[in-house]
Amino acid sequence: ALGSDGVRVTMESALTARDRVGVQDFVLLENFTSEAAFIENLRRRFRENLIYTYIGPVLVSVNPYRDLQIYSRQHMERYRGVSFYEVPPHLFAVADTVYRALRTERRDQAVMISGESGAGKTEATKRLLQFYAETCPAPERGGAVRDRLLQSNPVLEAFGNAKTLRNDNSSRFGKYMDVQFDFKGAPVGGHILSYLLEKSRVVHQNHGERNFHVFYQLLEGGEEEMLRRLGLERNPQSYLYLVKGQCAKVSSINDKSDWKVVRKALTVIDFTEDEVEDLLSIVASVLHLGNIHFAADEESNAQVTTENQLKYLTRSGCGFLVLGLSPYGRQMERGLWHHLPSHLGWQLLSPLNLEQAAYARDALAKAVYSRTFTWLVRKINRSLASKDAESPSWRSTTVLGLLDIYGFEVFQHNSFEQFCINYCNEKLQQLFIELTLKSEQEEYEAEGIAWEPVQYFNNKIICDLDEECLRPGEATDLTFLEKLEDTVKHHPHFLTHKLADQRTRKSLGRGEFRLLHYAGEVTYSVTGFLDKNNDLLFRNLKETMCSSENPIMSQCFDRSELSDKKRPETVATQFKMSLLQLVEILQSKEPAYVRCIKPNDAKQPGRFDEVLIRHQVKYLGLMENLRVRRAGFAYRRKYEAFLQRYKSLCPETWPTWAGRPQDGVAVLVRHLGYKPEEYKMGRTKIFIRFPKTLFATEDALEV
Ligand code: ATP
Ligand code: MG
Repeated sequence: ALGSDGVRVTMESALTARDRVGVQDFVLLENFTSEAAFIENLRRRFRENLIYTYIGPVLVSVNPYRDLQIYSRQHMERYRGVSFYEVPPHLFAVADTVYRALRTERRDQAVMISGESGAGKTEATKRLLQFYAETCPAPERGGAVRDRLLQSNPVLEAFGNAKTLRNDNSSRFGKYMDVQFDFKGAPVGGHILSYLLEKSRVVHQNHGERNFHVFYQLLEGGEEEMLRRLGLERNPQSYLYLVKGQCAKVSSINDKSDWKVVRKALTVIDFTEDEVEDLLSIVASVLHLGNIHFAADEESNAQVTTENQLKYLTRSGCGFLVLGLSPYGRQMERGLWHHLPSHLGWQLLSPLNLEQAAYARDALAKAVYSRTFTWLVRKINRSLASKDAESPSWRSTTVLGLLDIYGFEVFQHNSFEQFCINYCNEKLQQLFIELTLKSEQEEYEAEGIAWEPVQYFNNKIICDLDEECLRPGEATDLTFLEKLEDTVKHHPHFLTHKLADQRTRKSLGRGEFRLLHYAGEVTYSVTGFLDKNNDLLFRNLKETMCSSENPIMSQCFDRSELSDKKRPETVATQFKMSLLQLVEILQSKEPAYVRCIKPNDAKQPGRFDEVLIRHQVKYLGLMENLRVRRAGFAYRRKYEAFLQRYKSLCPETWPTWAGRPQDGVAVLVRHLGYKPEEYKMGRTKIFIRFPKTLFATEDALEV
């Protein structure tokens, strides 16, 4: 196959190879502004099982949905220490390039992996970690960190991943993971940041989807004795929180063996037996909570009718604490049917009706689960923390970050969650454009070549708009929308029913607003915005949880929250802050990108659904990426490499050129008849403007 540097041409003529397998780097597409040409190149390569293609330094990956046997130890070795462009595109080429930059330049690196659900982000993250675990030297002390880094994954996936319609192992949270290396290049520690766990899944799943894996794993794989202690039955059908999606069993998932893996992993990441028990009690208690029923009394107030569940949530017969609440039942019971809206300054004890009681129960289940997840991440971080923090080698560590975060989402119905996710993508796109342009400019400067300004779409305007929309402080969803209309009504990227013209109005409901994101238009419904954003938990439920004897729970619910002075931050504010922090982290590192594409919705190998792919090319901003990359020169290569490859084409440089490589290249291209406008000579590299110049030279080799 023909590399973007032309190396490794097969015996067939380079041209036929190009026709069959496409180009390895999209910058070599003759018609680089054509989306059709882009997709055709992707298709050709996909047909040949070539799932990786570059856009300059960016790796585009198409999920093959089959095991291609391309991640073996031999493959790792093949990509170690070789130049990025001398071997066919591969994730390991990125892995190795990034690692070497980290080692030689001692600059922190970040690999940002994006794409929609099912595109292969998490798989890529795991392959990268595996690459480092297998190829990096072991640290002098604390060799266990390598295992911990790998084993943190199954645990986080058990609690944070679920079967969805799009992906049987869908990550329902965003994840950023730092791996720290010492000065010898050995992994010595790690740190994980998680973003926006989709906690609504705890209490509700759409048809064909499941709750988080851990529930099914525990029921399938947990020992008899343990399940008895937790008051659990094996059958997932017994639990209301597990039956909504009607698909407890999934053919691609083996909950029983996954459970074994998770159980072992918990030990590797430093869980004591007690901690495991505490953690699983919480998982069990969420299931028990889900089974609490209410019936209305004469005054239409909700009464708990399922004493048995309360028993397990509090102190069970065998003295085992599930949520560890005491005194027996009472507080919990009260917590579920009465609430004190003390955030409003009242002290009235108001009974709840059936609907409110169910709402309170579900809110508690979500809070318990999501806070446990946060606790879990903290716990893992303690285990990953370098044990050598005080030693001199610690101070000279470098960091390699891996970002596995949800891509742009557009559904039939888009709500608060999609809004947050798309805002996140908008921010990351902004960072991407900024960093890509910056690195292009830096390279031109370093090479002494005049920088030609590139026209690009600056999405700052939408980022600012998104932030405006993140400010709901109003009384209802609709007043929030009205206020928003007032504040941003003249914004070119914002539209509502009221602001739309006659024609567009039909397509917009009254409770909706539409944003024109970089990736396209999305219509959001404001229904539930405020509720999801405020995310309130009734005060006395919080109080109840604060007195839990389960040590994990008491760490998750802190008494300071009960203070009236402390108004809890909204979800949007928290998310915005954590994104700001993420952008800062990423900005301080040298970026690398992996853009993942899902070839079809059927999770099947060999199927290339063009419509679906075209959408993703758009959402990932790939054409814009290519345009920026091609704005100046399609191809650039170090003089040594260029001369080495093409020296046979000129009698003066063949078989050896005695002088400077740069002078050799000058002689060579003059001999080949390059016109002045076709190339530029930088300090260390030759820059070629059009692919056809390179292809002509490449073809000359074949003659
Ligand atoms: P989500 O956003 O839902 O978490 P994702 O982008 O993380 O999605 P993955 O879980 O990584 O998606 O991939 C989905 C499935 O696709 C995997 O479980 C695996 O079966 C398959 N897959 C992904 N990448 C590859 C690959 N490189 N080779 C073979 N199969 C793959
Ligand atoms: Mg994932």
